[in-house]
Amino acid sequence: MEKPKMNPLFIGHGSPLNAIADNRYTAFLRDLGERLPRPEAILVVSAHWQTQGTRITAGASLGQIYDFYGFPDELYAVRYAPPGNPALAREIAREVPGIELDESRGIDHAGWAPVSRIYPKADVPLLELSLDYAKSEREHYELGKRLSFLADRGVLVIGSGNVVHNLRDVSFDEESRPFGWALEADSWISKRISDGNDGELVEYRSRMPDWRRAIPTDEHFLPLLYVLATRPRSEPARSIYEEIQNGSISMRSVEIA
Ligand code: ZN
Repeated sequence: MEKPKMNPLFIGHGSPLNAIADNRYTAFLRDLGERLPRPEAILVVSAHWQTQGTRITAGASLGQIYDFYGFPDELYAVRYAPPGNPALAREIAREVPGIELDESRGIDHAGWAPVSRIYPKADVPLLELSLDYAKSEREHYELGKRLSFLADRGVLVIGSGNVVHNLRDVSFDEESRPFGWALEADSWISKRISDGNDGELVEYRSRMPDWRRAIPTDEHFLPLLYVLATRPRSEPARSIYEEIQNGSISMRSVEIA
């Protein structure tokens, strides 16, 4: 049977509470799952896994990592245990030199929180790819290009982060009014996504006004570069969801289509 072509996605994941919440954002994820074909597997480029070198989860079954503190018990009771896919991990490591297999790493909440709302049956194998501390923005982008073959193999690549993410200036009220600077940064990024201007996004440190406030650390931003890089230049990227949660966290999500 033909494998479905799986257009890569960037998903803003925000607070772990979105794993149990019922809000406009979680309705968006549910609808997305109903509209997308069922992939052969999912590879999440995770904002919550930073390593020396790039690593990929290669276990057959992967533990669920609760990498957050001080949240309600209900959140720690969420069980989401899709299988891994070691053969696919090996194939990706063969295809893209420099990616190392990690047999023991589980799935953090950048993976399971959004994916559990998109594919609640937990029947699609789930893998994660780490972010190498040592790589430049350009090198992350170049690595993303090398993952483009996965779409035709029926593998859904999801970059999971947040294009604007500042936890120091966060509001604990999810419904809090967005801060002006967060809206401005989000719309600066949004325009470049819809214009196909990957170059300025890769060079955000020299191009984007006030980037230090919107992107004080880069791990939530970098997964976007992977997703944009997977597409041929002719293919557009479009925002399929936008919202600022907690005042300073952009939930903007992007589909290559
Ligand atoms: Zn996060």
